[in-house]
Amino acid sequence: MAESEVYSLSVVRAEELDPKFKYKMSRIPGAERLMLCYQCGTCTADCPISRFSDFYRPRRIARMVQLGLKDRLLSDSALWLCSTCFTCVDHCPQGVEIAGIVRALRNLAVTEKGTIPLVQKELATSLLKTGYALILTGKYEFPRSKLKQRETLGLPPLPKPNLSDLEKIFEVTGASKAIEKAETFEQVKS
Ligand code: SF4
Ligand code: SF4
Repeated sequence: MAESEVYSLSVVRAEELDPKFKYKMSRIPGAERLMLCYQCGTCTADCPISRFSDFYRPRRIARMVQLGLKDRLLSDSALWLCSTCFTCVDHCPQGVEIAGIVRALRNLAVTEKGTIPLVQKELATSLLKTGYALILTGKYEFPRSKLKQRETLGLPPLPKPNLSDLEKIFEVTGASKAIEKAETFEQVKS
């Protein structure tokens, strides 16, 4: 299915709808209030990613979950555009946590569909190995300007990560195996 078709709701086929999906999602922490979304559009109006994207719309993600368009959602690379800034969560009049819904969908994309953007896999691998998603040297370098800013503000150096605790969390949650097995794809641009 073409990307625009994945994300468009202009044609929805009955066989695509999974009526149980919204109940499954509602049991996941962070996505509990998804059925309270009444499509006011505040989240989309305030989302910084939507401002620069022709197709990323948090309001539409909430509707797609309610409709049960599970396969479209999980195969949609736009899902990974959300920056988890939580603006939508702060502004939703119904207390729906779109950021939590997106996080739950991403987890399902990795664990059930077995796919993850290459950049996310590399960041997760870095986190597991070094304790930081952004590292001090290499491809995803922590901005030197930020380190300088910490010094200027009198903040202590970055804390030392507890790698054994991190390893346990990755192991217990199954994240290590799921991320290792997942196939990668190039992240779509907004
Ligand atoms: S702001 Fe809340 S109620 Fe309005 S569309 Fe977004 S999620 Fe739904
Ligand atoms: S958390 Fe994601 S969906 Fe919500 S406003 Fe921020 S970028 Fe948009």
